[in-house]
Amino acid sequence: MTEPLPFAAPYAPPDEDFAAQFLAGRPSLADQRAITGKARTLVQGMRAERGALGGVEDFLHEFSLSSREGLAVMALAESLLRVPDDATADALIVDKLAAGDFSHHAAASDVMLVQACAFALGLSARLVGQEAEPRGLVADLARRIGLPALRTAARQAMRLMGAHFVFGETIEDALTRAKGKRERFSFDMLGEGARSAADAQRYFDAYATAIRAIAASAGAAPLPGRPGISVKLSALHPRYEAISRARVLAELPPRLLELARLARAQDLAFTIDAEEADRLELSLDVIARVVADSSLAGWEGFGVAVQAYQKRARDVIDYVDALAQAHDRRFMLRLVKGAYWDSEIKRAQERGLADYPVFTRKAMTDLNYDACAAQLLAAPRLYPQFATHNARSVAEILVRAGDREDYEFQRLHGMGEALYDALAAISAAPVRVYAPVGPHRDLLAYLVRRLIENGANSSFVARAADPETPEAALIADPHLAISGGRARHPRLPSPSEIYQPQRANSKGVEFGDRQALAALRESIAAARGPFVARPAGGATKVRAVTSPVDGAAVGEVAETEEAAIRDMMAAAARAFPPWNRTGVEARAGILKRAADLLEARRGVFLALLQSEAGKTLDDALAELREAADMCRYYAGQARPAGAEIRLPGPTGEDNRLRYEGRGVFVCISPWNFPLAIFLGQVAAALVTGNAVVAKPAEQTPLIAAQAVALLHEAGVPRAALQLAPGAGNIGAALVADPRTAGVVFTGSVEVAQHINRALAARDGALALLIAETGGVNAMIVDSTALIEQVVDDVLASAFRSAGQRCSALRLLCIQEDIAAVVIERLIGAAKELRIGDPRDLGVHVGPVIDADAKEKLDRHVAEARAAGRLLYCGESPQGGSFVAPAIIRLARVGDLRREIFGPVLHVATWRAGRFDALIEEIEAGGYGLTFGLETRIETRMQAVARSAPAGNIYINRNMIGAVVGSQPFGGFGLSGTGPKAGGPDYLRRFLREITVTTNTASSGGDAGLLSLEDD
Ligand SMILES: Cc1cc2nc3c(=O)[nH]c(=O)nc-3n(C[C@H](O)[C@H](O)[C@H](O)COP(=O)(O)OP(=O)(O)OC[C@H]3O[C@@H](n4cnc5c(N)ncnc54)[C@H](O)[C@@H]3O)c2cc1C
Repeated sequence: MTEPLPFAAPYAPPDEDFAAQFLAGRPSLADQRAITGKARTLVQGMRAERGALGGVEDFLHEFSLSSREGLAVMALAESLLRVPDDATADALIVDKLAAGDFSHHAAASDVMLVQACAFALGLSARLVGQEAEPRGLVADLARRIGLPALRTAARQAMRLMGAHFVFGETIEDALTRAKGKRERFSFDMLGEGARSAADAQRYFDAYATAIRAIAASAGAAPLPGRPGISVKLSALHPRYEAISRARVLAELPPRLLELARLARAQDLAFTIDAEEADRLELSLDVIARVVADSSLAGWEGFGVAVQAYQKRARDVIDYVDALAQAHDRRFMLRLVKGAYWDSEIKRAQERGLADYPVFTRKAMTDLNYDACAAQLLAAPRLYPQFATHNARSVAEILVRAGDREDYEFQRLHGMGEALYDALAAISAAPVRVYAPVGPHRDLLAYLVRRLIENGANSSFVARAADPETPEAALIADPHLAISGGRARHPRLPSPSEIYQPQRANSKGVEFGDRQALAALRESIAAARGPFVARPAGGATKVRAVTSPVDGAAVGEVAETEEAAIRDMMAAAARAFPPWNRTGVEARAGILKRAADLLEARRGVFLALLQSEAGKTLDDALAELREAADMCRYYAGQARPAGAEIRLPGPTGEDNRLRYEGRGVFVCISPWNFPLAIFLGQVAAALVTGNAVVAKPAEQTPLIAAQAVALLHEAGVPRAALQLAPGAGNIGAALVADPRTAGVVFTGSVEVAQHINRALAARDGALALLIAETGGVNAMIVDSTALIEQVVDDVLASAFRSAGQRCSALRLLCIQEDIAAVVIERLIGAAKELRIGDPRDLGVHVGPVIDADAKEKLDRHVAEARAAGRLLYCGESPQGGSFVAPAIIRLARVGDLRREIFGPVLHVATWRAGRFDALIEEIEAGGYGLTFGLETRIETRMQAVARSAPAGNIYINRNMIGAVVGSQPFGGFGLSGTGPKAGGPDYLRRFLREITVTTNTASSGGDAGLLSLEDD
C-alpha cells in the first residue's frame, strides 16, 4: 500500500470564523421560506398521531431523562442484563426502583417499549399503592410479589427494550427482519471497542460473517441501493489510539482491506463509522491506505462517516473528495452530527487544549451540517448520505437538493420512524436504516449513548417528543441563534478557563493532533544539556546520573557535603525573615511566573522526565502540567490562607489571628514525581514565607536542579531556596538540624517513620512533619460494573507510570461471579501494552526507576510464580530496568499488607453479600491513600464514599492522576499525616499562627462603647 498524503487541518479553529461564514451564506429569503415550510410539514406529520413517534421518542415522552425515573430505567437497562448473580441483580433492581416513583407510569401507550418499562416498573409499583415512599414502596413490592418475581419482570422488560433498539441478536435474525422492508439497511455489529487481540479478532470475524450473510441476501439492486455494513475501526484494533499510530498503520489496514474486499466482491456498501476527534487523523490515515489498494478499484460502495459537530468536518469532506479523485471513483459519505459531544468537551478540558474541536452551540452544529450538506451535494464524486432525525435538517437538504435524486437519508433503528414516514409523503428520497446487531447484553453502551444523546434538552428528538415544545421552536432557523456574536456557548468556558477564578488550567497537548504533537516532540528534541545538579553549599565529587531506560548518562550531579549543611541551614535561616516579610502578592507572582516559565521551557523538563525518570510522553506531560497547576494553585491560595482574621472578644479588646512562615522548611521528595511533587512541596513552603532547603531523590537530581534554577529565575532569592542533592544521609542531616522548623516529605512509610523519630529525638524547637506516604490501594469491582470500563480503569491505575505512583492500584477485589471473565479480559488487554523505551511514542510502560527497584520487583514476581500464583507476566525488554506488568492471584485480601511499588497487580475475589466485610479487611491493612469502586449500585457508591478507608476515593473511574484543586491528594493512617497536597487546607500547615490581643481601652476608657448611641 502506498503512503498517501496525510490529512491536515487546524484541530480547533475559532468558532467565530465559522459563525461569520454561516451568517454570510444564509439562504435566500425564498429558500428560507421553503425550508421552514417543509420543516413544518414534516413536524406536523410526525406529531399527527399521538404515540406514533416510535422508539426512543416514546420512551422519552414517558420517562424524561431529566426525571429520576428516566435515569433509573436507563441505568437499569445499561447494567441489569450483564449481572450473572441474583443477589446483585436484586440489589441493583431495588437500588434503581427506589430511586424514583414509578407508580404513575402506567402502560397508557400501546408502544411496546413504554409498555415494557411500565410492566416491570410502573405496573408492579402500582401493586402496592400510590402513597408509599419510593424506598418503602420497593420493600412492599418485594414482599408482595417476591424479589425473584420482580427480578424476572425487570429482566424481561430490559430484554424487551433490547429487542426494540437492537435490530437482531444475530445477523441472520436481522436479515430476516429486514426482508421485504422498503428501506435500505446498514448493519452494525454492537459492542465496545476492542481491548485485546482476541476482541479484535472476534469483531473481525463478526464483520466478515455478517458481510457474507448480507451478501447472500442482498438481492439484485445496484449500488447505492444495496445493503451494507458499518465498521468501527476501534473494534478492529486493541490500541486504536494516536500514540500507537505506527503500529495501527502496520496492522489495521490489511485487516480492513480484507473486509473491504469481501464487501467489494458483492458490491455492498461498506461505511467506516466516525469516532472521537483524537482518532480522526488516524482513521483517515487508515482509510487512505485501504482505498488506495488496487483490488478495490472501481468499487463505489466504500463510505466514510463525517461528524458535522467537528470543526474539521468540511476539511474531512475535502480530503475524502480528493481521495475519490485520486482513485477515480465515487465514495459514499455519511454526514452525521456526531455522537460523542459531551466526551469531546470533557477530553478537551482534561487535556488543557487551547480550544474545543467541536462547536459549543447546537445551532453551530446544525449550521455546519447544512454547510457540509451543500459541500457534499456539490461534490460529484461523493454519494451523499444524510443521517439525521431532525426535521429542519431534513428540510434544508430537500430544498438544497432540489430535483436531484442521487442521495439518501439515514436514520437509526428505533428512532425517527415518524419523521421518515412524514417524509415519504412529500419526497421519494430513499432512506437507509442503521441497524444494530448483537446480543441484548451488549446493547447497553449503545442504548445509553442513544438515550443520553437524544434525551438531552438540546436534541431535536427530545424536543419533538415534548408536547410543550411549540412547533415554531422546533423549526426555528439556527442562524437566528448565533447572530450578534453568539458563536460560543456562554456557560461553557474554554478549556483553559475551567478552573477560573482559582487558576488558569495548565496547557496540554492532544496527541491526536499531529501538528501539536510534532511541535511538542520538536521542543523535546531541541532540549540541550549539559544537565548538572549542584548543591547550594559544598559539594562532593561529581557522579554521572544515568537513565533507567538504557543506563546512558543524562547529566552529572555533585552531591551535598554533609559538612556543608550547617552553613546552608544558617544561610536559609538568615534568608527567612526578609523572604517572610516579602508581601504574599510578590511571592504568589513569582510562582505564577514560574508556572509560565515551566510551560515555555517544556521541552527541557519533558526531556529530563523521560530520560532521567523514564516517563512516557503522556506521563511526562501530565507531570509537567501538574507542576504548573501546583504553582498557580498555591499562588491563588496564598492570600486567603494567610489573611489576617479578626476574632471576637469583649468590648475594649481587639483580637487578631495572623499567619506567617514558620522558618526553614526541609523538603524531601521522591523520584516518582521528580518535578510535580518536588515543586509542589517547595512552592507551598515558599509562598507561605518559609525558606527552603530541598533534597530531591538521589535518582532524579537533574530535574530538581532545573526546577530550582527556574524558581530563582522567577524571583526567589538564592538563599531562600537551596538545593541539597544527596542520599539519605543528607536528608537525615537536614532533619536533625536545629534550625529546621518543618519537614515536608513524600516517600515510603518507613522513611517517614524514621524522620518522625529523628524529629522527636531533637532537643530544642519542635518541628512539624507533613508526610505523604504510600498505600496498598484497593479497588472493588462488583458484577454490575461494565467490564470494558473496569479493564480500562484497572490497566491505567495499575500499570501507567509502570505502577510507580503512590496512588496506583495494588489490590483488585473482583466479585467472584465475574472474576474469571474480568481476569481473562485484563490479561488480554495487558498483553497489548508495549513495554520499552518511553521516548518511543507507542510505548505504554517504561522502566522502573533503577536496578534496585527492578531486582525487588522481579523477586516478588518470581516468588508468586514459584507459588503458582502468577496469572500473567509480560516480557521485559533487555537492558534498562524494565519490569513487565504482572498479575498475581491472592488467596485472601489480607495476603497483601505491604506496598509493592511497580507494575504488579494483585487480584483477590470476594463473594456477593460480603461487601462490608471486604471493606473491613482492606481497612485492617492500616493504609488509607486511594480506593476505587466500580459498580452501578448507587447505595453502594454512597456507602463507599461515606466510609471507605482512604483519603482519595474514586468511583467508576481510574484512581490515579489527581488534579490539583479538584482531587486534593493525600491519605491517613500509614499513608500520611495529611493535609492534602493541592487542596485548600495545605498551605495553612506551612504557617505559624499568632494572635495579638490589644486592650483598646487601656488609655483611659472604652471610647467606642461610650459613644454608643441610643437607637
Ligand atoms: C445512520 C446513522 C449513522 C450514524 N453514525 C454515526 C457515526 O458513525 N459516528 C457518530 O459520531 N455518530 C453517528 N450517528 C449518530 C448521530 O451523530 C446522531 O444521531 C446525531 O448526533 C443526532 O443528530 P440529529 O440531527 O438527529 O439530531 P439533532 O438533535 O438535531 O442534533 C444533535 C447534535 O447536536 C449536537 N449538539 C448538542 N448540543 C450541542 C452544543 N451545545 N454544541 C454543539 N453541538 C451540540 C449533538 O452532539 C448532536 O451531534 C449516526 C446516526 C445515524 C442516523
